Amino acid sequence: MASGETCPPGRLKGYVRHAMQDNSTNALDRRFPALSIPRLSLGCFPTPVQELDSIGRPGSVRLWCKREDLAGKLYGGNKVRKLEYILAALPSSDRAVITMGGSGSHHMLATAIYAKHLGLGFYGIFFPQPETPQVRRNFIALQELSHKLWMVPNRRRIAKGILRAWHYFHSKGEPFPHLVAPGGSDPLGTLGWVAGGLEIAQQVQAGEIPEPGQIFVALGTMGTAAGLALGLALAGMNTRVMAVRVVEWPLTTMAATMGLARRTLSMLSQHGLRLEGNLPPLRLDVLHGFAGPGYGAWTPGAGEAARLVEQAHGISLETTYTGKAMAACLDWIRQRRTGREVMFIDTVNSRPMDAIISPAGSAP
Ligand SMILES: *Cc1c(COP(=O)(O)O)cnc(C)c1O
Repeated sequence: MASGETCPPGRLKGYVRHAMQDNSTNALDRRFPALSIPRLSLGCFPTPVQELDSIGRPGSVRLWCKREDLAGKLYGGNKVRKLEYILAALPSSDRAVITMGGSGSHHMLATAIYAKHLGLGFYGIFFPQPETPQVRRNFIALQELSHKLWMVPNRRRIAKGILRAWHYFHSKGEPFPHLVAPGGSDPLGTLGWVAGGLEIAQQVQAGEIPEPGQIFVALGTMGTAAGLALGLALAGMNTRVMAVRVVEWPLTTMAATMGLARRTLSMLSQHGLRLEGNLPPLRLDVLHGFAGPGYGAWTPGAGEAARLVEQAHGISLETTYTGKAMAACLDWIRQRRTGREVMFIDTVNSRPMDAIISPAGSAP
């Protein structure tokens, strides 16, 4: 492991506006100290990078795994960086948040966990997705942590769920909770992954890892890939982001990902970002061949990739996101389409959830 051994324990108590901030380990703050965008310290950064030395093509291609699964003591994965910015921007009068996603959504679960940590209420709108052990576990924890959940039949009916929730709060005379974008992928949440891209660049500059030619990452609501590509460009890196689509086309596209990156850059400019010279073009490809029949669907490639990584390195991937991104990564390596140094981002939580699920909700 190159860095990030020590992860500070959760240290936030009480409501958001009283929370302590620790800006020392955020790569965006380190690179642009004058910006001072509100951020809560929820995770442990930088996340470590581990070489997966027995998979890929040992001897000719080295595969590096960014262990974002360890991003938080309470709950890791790629939503923690986003939530550091999203939850810091909550007006102090907002005492609850509401967001949406699939029944096994890591985004909903991460939001519920960190909202509770900050003393905020959590509400969710979900649509069922193909059930896997991971999806089941996440949904049990989500139910445990939610004040109320509304179900809609599929992703396209989310707006209907929001309307039902609105009626609920309206009839009780309560304010509608603070709305958090699906996947945390608005420009604010995407900032978390601008910091992620800069963090990788800083790990390269510190000599901890070589500069990767490609970084493979799952592409869902696009904030992770958009922020990464922007952060890497701001750092002047040559690395290409290989965004592996896992959601039905055309919800997730190259144009939409680039659009999100652009909106995030304008937000940074509004906060006072001034660049010396022009920003180099963003290096991003969207890989379409690995999604299978639809969001959450198991694919042989994802199953095989997850099994391989588990056996070789004891790292648990799932088959909705990380298994598919790893399947693409291995496919490109086997076809000799990558450079010598390749990075994969393990975006799924690996922290045990026993502390989150009460004894009544877990197995005896
Ligand atoms: C949300 C998620 C992703 C995709 O990130 P986006 O920013 O939504 O594109 C990847 N992996 C896991 C495990 C996720 O939960």
